[in-house]
Amino acid sequence: MSFDHYLSLLNNEPQELQSLANEKARKLFGQTITYSRNFFVPITHQCRNRCGYCSFVSDDVKSWITPDSFKSLLEKAKSVNCSEILLTLGEKPEKKHATAREFLRKYGCNSTVEYVKMFCEIVLEEKLLPHSNLGVITFEELKTLKDYNASLGLMLESSSDHLLDEGEAHYHSPTKNPKLRFEVIENAGKLNIPFTSGLLIGIGETKEDRIKSLMHLQIINKQYQHIQEIIIQNFNPQKGTPMQDYPPPEEKDVLQAIALSRVIMGSNVNIQAPPNLNRNRIVDLLNFGANDLGGISPVTIDHINPNMTWQEESQLGKNLESVGFLLKQRLPVYPPYEKYLNKRIRKIIEDKYRNEEIISP
Ligand code: SF4
Repeated sequence: MSFDHYLSLLNNEPQELQSLANEKARKLFGQTITYSRNFFVPITHQCRNRCGYCSFVSDDVKSWITPDSFKSLLEKAKSVNCSEILLTLGEKPEKKHATAREFLRKYGCNSTVEYVKMFCEIVLEEKLLPHSNLGVITFEELKTLKDYNASLGLMLESSSDHLLDEGEAHYHSPTKNPKLRFEVIENAGKLNIPFTSGLLIGIGETKEDRIKSLMHLQIINKQYQHIQEIIIQNFNPQKGTPMQDYPPPEEKDVLQAIALSRVIMGSNVNIQAPPNLNRNRIVDLLNFGANDLGGISPVTIDHINPNMTWQEESQLGKNLESVGFLLKQRLPVYPPYEKYLNKRIRKIIEDKYRNEEIISP
């Protein structure tokens, strides 16, 4: 289908778009809805960028998690049976902050990538599965991290250059340039990395931008078949940020972005919608083509949206069951993408998780 066709569906036949998306999702995934039980570790809040909507970023060097405190966090993660350790952090803070460079040197690292690699090694030693998001990194850095992660992620957010203009969400964030981000996503494809990407809805982009973003992601994925999931994340205004008074996206825009992503992306791609950002419309998300709810933590908060708590898993499961869906836990790598992983990570999955009640091939 062409850009014009998607636009006409959005403008003139939104109901047809929804039924197409829902039909496709149920044909591919039935009534099963997945999620990953995760433990969110914000390695550092320092960052080289400054996005208009971000309440995560801080210049404080004290925001770094040290290896010792990381080990005690892992004990906590194990005690509540989390399988995914989500490592999320500001992007390459050492490029901007002397304090970050100094901190990294203290631990024998020249870069954040080296520091995260060290943490991933600790995670794997504990037979848990890391999923890391480091922002824009090089081909070589991706290659290094591939061996230490069950999957890696980089939100595209939007393919719109306009968001880099003065006064826009990405004006102070040069690496939110879509060209750089597409390059990372493509490099991950060349390296066969199970990959997560997605859009951030409502930060000043248009519906045309959303179609273009998804079509470009689909072109990359058609070639490399490595994008295991697309997250449709809605902008959630945070106090104290330049965009605190900016209105959140309308419900129809969020739901239609989910339907569009289902219709545009290939059939293997999981479409994910965060339940904590959509508390009162979870069933709608599924009826518009989502089949995954992403990471849900029994203990840690969503550090990107700290005001949005997750629903407790068993309650969420019961709510979904009452409307005919079945909530199932999965790992941070979806079964069809396990073939891309090295022997060590596949062995952890085989030995530790294969017999558990977790979706497996
Ligand atoms: S959203 Fe990410 S890249 Fe942007 S300022 Fe926050 S941490 Fe940095």
